[in-house]
Amino acid sequence: MSVSPVLEADVLRRQDPELAEILLGERERQASTLQMIAAENFTSPAVLAALGSPLANKYAEGYPGARHHGGCEIVDVAERIAVDRAKTLFGAEHANVQSHSGSSAVLAAYAALLRPGDTVLALGLPYGGHLTHGSPANFSGRWFDFVPYGVDAETGLLDHDQVRTLARNHRPKAIVCGSIAYPRHIDYAFFREVADEVGAYLIADAAHPIGLVAGRAAPNPVPYADIVCATTHKVLRGPRGGMILCGSELAERVDRAVFPFTQGGAQMHTIAAKAVAFGEAARPAFTAYAHQVVANARLLAAGLADEGLVVTTGGTDTHLITADPAPLGVDGRTGRGRLAAAGIVLDCCALPHGDARGLRLGTAALTTQGMGEKEMAHIAALMAGVLRGEADAVRAREEVRELAGGFPPYPG
Ligand SMILES: *Cc1c(COP(=O)(O)O)cnc(C)c1O
Repeated sequence: MSVSPVLEADVLRRQDPELAEILLGERERQASTLQMIAAENFTSPAVLAALGSPLANKYAEGYPGARHHGGCEIVDVAERIAVDRAKTLFGAEHANVQSHSGSSAVLAAYAALLRPGDTVLALGLPYGGHLTHGSPANFSGRWFDFVPYGVDAETGLLDHDQVRTLARNHRPKAIVCGSIAYPRHIDYAFFREVADEVGAYLIADAAHPIGLVAGRAAPNPVPYADIVCATTHKVLRGPRGGMILCGSELAERVDRAVFPFTQGGAQMHTIAAKAVAFGEAARPAFTAYAHQVVANARLLAAGLADEGLVVTTGGTDTHLITADPAPLGVDGRTGRGRLAAAGIVLDCCALPHGDARGLRLGTAALTTQGMGEKEMAHIAALMAGVLRGEADAVRAREEVRELAGGFPPYPG
């Protein structure tokens, strides 16, 4: 069984030096640049050990105690532990931990509640809706009739009046709340109220904030939504994967929507790794981590605003920041390129106002590395210099390498 990413590469080096080089190269890239993609994090060595374990060999269609394959008695226990830990962590009556990804979880949620052609209200893609929230390039936009709501062009905040009006006019079968880029807490009680008024299901796609929920640093959608979809690899710091939480009355429909409707065999190594991550997230150290993630994001947002960037909604409640670098004389796309050359890795995103692209970044990975107040101020200044095109490219790259080198994601 793998113990560390280094040992893993050693085993591979003997057998397949070509791929071993890639493992080591990516490890080096992650350790020598700043991982500020809002959806990324560093999983623990324990999570990596579960992912690299022989559980990866096991076929396990079905659910614990009711599998289509033999030899599942041990992996059944892993899945039961993962489910129990998820239920306890989020206060949910039911958890399905088999979804292969966040998108698969959303697909299953729709499959559990909707029929093709049903009307669904969700945040529009230009305002931070996910592909699964009605993109014409995605199954969601093809099979359902999505009505998009937006954010206020001035404040960048969710337009509650518009949500209520659209819900009354379109009478959707479901309302989706959740975003890939919204930096503020979502008022789940408000969405529940609107859903109840028009007789719609409420689906919370909490892929981003679920880790903050685990760390008690963001409101929990579980008491409000009929179904909560989530990922396990963002702030939650587990393996790449998805998860669904719901009440007992929808448990069977959700389980059947995952398997056999949208997926085949469960990935037992990933499910074991999810159990490990849930166990880690239940500890006081993770609560401290989640609060530090938010504190760091607030410091970074304030630092970027001081440097002249326009921070959407004026700040953040979460790990996530979106900002317009235009006042620094650069658009989001060019800015992302300049930052990447300096070793600062983040995304572009749409902005609430106009057509220009902005920057989307997060503090989950930096915080896992142990960075705090001092580093956030340093990073804000570094970013501003690079964005303005003032900083010497080679020197900026060296400065980032030095900063990252002081906080190795996998020490030793
Ligand atoms: C990340 C994300 C997803 C999809 O997760 P994948 O694992 O990439 O499929 C879905 N919805 C939202 C809101 C997300 O942020």
